[in-house]
Amino acid sequence: MDLGIRGKKALVCAASKGLGRGCAEALAAAGVDLVLNARGAGALAATAAAIRAAHGVTVTEVAADITSATGRAKVLKAAGAVDILVTNAGGPPPGMWTDWEREDFIRALDANMLTPIALMKALLPGMMERGWGRVVNITSQSVKAPIAQLGLSNAARAGLTGYVAGTARQVAPEGVTVNNLLPGIHATDRADALDTGVAKAQGITVEEARARRAATIPARRYGTAGEFGAACAFLCSVHAGFIVGQNILLDGGAMNSTL
Ligand code: NAP
Repeated sequence: MDLGIRGKKALVCAASKGLGRGCAEALAAAGVDLVLNARGAGALAATAAAIRAAHGVTVTEVAADITSATGRAKVLKAAGAVDILVTNAGGPPPGMWTDWEREDFIRALDANMLTPIALMKALLPGMMERGWGRVVNITSQSVKAPIAQLGLSNAARAGLTGYVAGTARQVAPEGVTVNNLLPGIHATDRADALDTGVAKAQGITVEEARARRAATIPARRYGTAGEFGAACAFLCSVHAGFIVGQNILLDGGAMNSTL
């Protein structure tokens, strides 16, 4: 399917690895020029080079912490006007509800709620002025079904989801859509870190932890960054203009619900 976005420009945050990289690759395959961000310059340069070689699109790299005001300013300056924004950042650490203090919540809110909101606030006006735009926020399945040990994530992402629900409907008249993609477990470094934590806590191997988790998913496997990126690219396509303010779960059927 021709996604109809060849020649457009996308800012994809936290995109040297994992789900962000999956989104960047799928957009590049559709002919979209990219501004890619991550903190580590080495992995970012390698990803940018691989995408340029595979898809022949322009890729600008900006090594910065997207959750800091200075990092965001650097990224936004390098990006300029963009047609597509994919927000993403690392997820908060797991723990117990008794562990978290105010500062932990502030950090999680900054990274996973206030950072995507600041990026939208900066870039939505230009998209609206030009009469076309797409925003996809990478959130989590924890928005629909809480993951107890990820309470910081549950809280911060729920806040972002509430913000998007209203904002998406305010910008839609100008041809701009905002939607959230909710990953269930996907095979990335983040999943490895979570499985390593489970393995330590339960005294089992990481492979065993992974197998046990996969067995709870109807698809009996983890998702891939490629599948995730393809869904993101579709939401950014010309065909998705009537999808507004939605929360789309990619979880292999893990959440047991009718609607
Ligand atoms: P990942 O494989 O660990 O990749 C994270 C990427 O983000 C890397 O490129 C990393 O590069 C970059 N990054 C992290 N913090 C950043 C920051 N502050 N500023 C700029 N770049 C940053 O993670 P993932 O699995 O793709 O997860 C992406 C998001 O989806 C996370 O918020 C995660 O919690 C959420 N999620 C993931 C899953 C899953 O199963 N994978 C499930 C639900 C939700 P640098 O480290 O070099 O910055």
